[in-house]
Parts: sequence; structure tokens; C-alpha cells
Amino acid sequence: MSDTYDYDLFVIGAGSGGVRAARLTALGGKRVAIAEEFRVGGTCVIRGCVPKKFMVMASEVSHALEIAEGYGWSFDNAQFDWPKFLEAKDVEIARLSGIYAANLGKAGVELVHGRAILKDAHTVAILDKSGAESRQITAEKILIATGGRPWKPESLPGIEHAITSEEAFHLPELPKRILIAGGGYIAVEFAGIFAGLGVETTLIYRGPNILRGFDDDVRAHLAGEIEKRGIKVILGCQHRSLEKTATGIVNHLENGMKLETDVVMFATGRIPYVADLGLSKAGVELNDEGAIKVDPYSKTTADNIWAIGDVTDRMNLTPVAIREAVAFHETVYRNNPQHFDYEAVATAVFSQPPVGVVGLTEAEARHSCSKGVDVYVTRFRPMKYAFTGSDERVLMKLVVDADTQRVVGVHIVGPDSPEMIQLAAIAVKAGLTKAQWDATCAVHPTMAEELVTLKEKQSQNTSAG
Ligand code: FAD
Repeated sequence: MSDTYDYDLFVIGAGSGGVRAARLTALGGKRVAIAEEFRVGGTCVIRGCVPKKFMVMASEVSHALEIAEGYGWSFDNAQFDWPKFLEAKDVEIARLSGIYAANLGKAGVELVHGRAILKDAHTVAILDKSGAESRQITAEKILIATGGRPWKPESLPGIEHAITSEEAFHLPELPKRILIAGGGYIAVEFAGIFAGLGVETTLIYRGPNILRGFDDDVRAHLAGEIEKRGIKVILGCQHRSLEKTATGIVNHLENGMKLETDVVMFATGRIPYVADLGLSKAGVELNDEGAIKVDPYSKTTADNIWAIGDVTDRMNLTPVAIREAVAFHETVYRNNPQHFDYEAVATAVFSQPPVGVVGLTEAEARHSCSKGVDVYVTRFRPMKYAFTGSDERVLMKLVVDADTQRVVGVHIVGPDSPEMIQLAAIAVKAGLTKAQWDATCAVHPTMAEELVTLKEKQSQNTSAG
């Protein structure tokens, strides 16, 4: 411990990564402070994963009611009350944020409210809401965990009329019509949320299909399924401009279409939150994509400064930010150098139906498996929909390295796939072979049993060439 500085560690940003690193380090006996300019908990708790999942769950009820009717239930005049839901959600978010703040306190971390900016490699200034400097703090080591921010194309005429995911959590009333621009997971999730809540929903994406980076079968399957749920999907097209009128916002599209909606949401990407942070004064450099440049141990170009989470734009997920925080703590304070292993990280898209994936896509596997891949695919109607007339289909796909027979990718679109993929990820991470999956006895009747009973290869041993 050094008395030269006010703190041993100063953390900027009390989100998923920052909170975990601060708590672990304070529990290890170090003097730690953390700055937060908005609300403790960060994107995940305040305007990301958690409120988003509540919205998905609220929205999914409409589908559950449809299924229930097939099973003989009837609901007279089922209604959804948006303000009531928002209030309940906000109470729960405030409770969770309070728990995060309390846990920081219990660990002995000092919470500093305000915006922190770097003055030099060891000095942080705290700015109040007016932007005035209220305090200066010195620290031996600094951890930057400031996360990301939504990005909108600012040069698009009329873009000021569009919201992002941040405002979507607090719309004063549920719109009748919404257009969502973007093809990533946030765009697809919010399209499902609004469509499920009865909003006339259009999704527009400039690329050839939604969910770039996911397995092609997943992308094609999900695009078809969300259309069945009533979402109008427009691909290969983008905005020319937005125009506010007395009745709504007119979306002028490149293909000549004009589409009026009440709300336009841009989910066109997120960027690392580094603006005006004073990085250059501390010797912290950015990479070509504008994220903080770090080595595998999350160390920046300044000797006493580290960065974790979305601000480093490595894999922008809450559990990853948390693991990077743990690895930072082990490396820097426990003499146990660790870096996070980004391979076979399972992820979910809470679209409706949802997606769960882990490991390589078929295209990636074909590229990296020298002797080709075996692919097993099944598409079927879930038993749950037997009485509903729904023609929704589940997709399950296993990608197997033809040489080693290890299952290197699992891709599921269908109910409960985020829950299934968490368990499948253990087997993929452990490097189990297809024969070992097959030796696992099925649980019947479930959807997941298909994963251990897939017998027919879709395509044989084609190598990338
Ligand atoms: P954050 O959680 O963003 O925390 C950064 C904190 O720093 C913020 O509280 C911010 O206010 C504060 N801050 C920034 N600059 C300063 C400063 N100068 N001074 C003081 N404080 C500052 N991930 C999943 O794993 N699953 C999901 O389902 C999921 N859904 C998402 C849905 C949406 C709509 C969004 C936007 C994100 C979602 N994510 C999801 C991503 C996840 O939220 C992030 O990966 C995670 O929050 C990153 O954690 P972090 O610690 O890097 O940053």
C-alpha cells in the first residue's frame, strides 16, 4: 500500500466490470474508490440487459395468452397497461441499483458521485452536474470501466427525431407504430418487444440479413420466424431522411418508400465511451476502432492504468466484463496473472423466439477445421404449439470438427434456447465429442433432447479449401 496517493485503486464507472473489480480489490484490503456519473449498476442494470429482459417478459405474455387459448383457457378483455409496467420495472431497477451500491459500501469501496476525468496518470478530477470540478483524487492505479454509448448516424437529416435504446425504456406512452433501424441483437430484441405488445413494428436493416456474425442458418431462420410474429422486415435498405409531421415521423427510405410511424428507434451500434475522458493526458491510447487499447491482461498503454468491459470493445457482454474484472484483480493484486478466454462464450438474443449460441458458426468452423466439419440440423414444431395452429419452428444445429469429432458450435432458435445454451456451453467449452453428446441419455419429452439424438449429418466433411 502506498501513502503517496489517496487510494490504491480508483475505478471510473460503476457498471458490471467496474463494480466487480472495485469490490474484489477492496475486500482484498486495498483502499478503493469508484466514480459513477449516472446510476450505480451501469448499462446492464439501468438501461441494458435487466430492463430489456423485463420488457421481453412483459411482451411474451401476449404469446403465452395465444398458446393458453389453444389449451382451453379464455381471457376476456386481456389488457396491457404500459405505465403500470414501467413503474413496476423502475421500482425493481432502483432496488437492484441500491443493492449494487450497498454491496460496494459493505466491501469498503468509497462511492464518488460525479463524472471522473483523468488529469494525468495518477490524478482524477470529479466534475459535478454543471461540469465544474468538485474534487481531485490521486490513486496509485486506475481502472477505466466506462462502458459504451449508443451510436446514431448524426449526419442523417432528421436524426434528432429518432430515439435509441436508452429512451426506449421510458417512452411516455406505448406507440401504435414503431420503426427500428438496425440488424443487431438490440434491434431484433426491441422489435420483438414492441410487436409482442401490439405495436405495428417495422425493422429495417441495410445489410442482407439480420444478426450479422451469427450462423447463416440462425439468421435465415430467425428472420422468417419474426415475420411470422408480425414484424415487417425490410432488408438491404436504409434511411434517406426522417421528417416530423403533425401525425408522426415519416421515414424516407432509400428505396423510395415512405413510412410514417410514431416512434423511430436507431439501434445501429454502440461505441466505447471515451469522449472527454482525458485519456491522452494520462498516456492512454485508443485503437483504430476508437476503443481503449489494452494488452491481454487489460493493461492500457499507461503503466498504472487498466481498462475492462465495453470501453475496450472486445466482447461486449456483462459476464465478459465481470470476468475481465476478475482477471484484472487476480493479475494486479493477487500475483496470479490471468486473462479471460474469449473462446466458446455462450450468448443469447432475447428475440421472440429467442436465440442461444455458443462456439463457431458453420462458416467459421469450415475455415478453421482443417479436415472439414460435420453439420447436424433439425427443424421442428415445439410440442407446446400443438394446439395453437402456430407454424413456428425450432432450429437446432450442431457443428462438429470432422477430424477431432468435437462439437465446436451449437446454435438454437426457439423457446428457452438461452437457458439451454448455458448448459450446452459447458460441453462445448470442455471440448466434448459428438459421441459423448450422443452417449448422454435424453430427457423426454423436451426440446433439448434433440441435442443428444441428432443422427443425420447434413453435409459431409467439406473443408474450407
Ligand atoms: P457499463 O455497464 O456500461 O458501465 C459503465 C458505467 O460507467 C456507467 O454506469 C456509466 O454511467 C459510467 N461512466 C461512464 N463514464 C464515466 C465517467 N467519466 N465518470 C463516472 N462514471 C462514468 N449484455 C449481456 O450480457 N446480456 C444482455 O442481454 C445484454 N443486453 C443489453 C441490452 C442493451 C439495450 C444494451 C445497451 C446492452 C446490453 N448488454 C447485454 C451489454 C451489457 O450491458 C454491457 O456489455 C455491460 O454493461 C458492460 O459493462 P461495463 O462495465 O463495461 O460498462
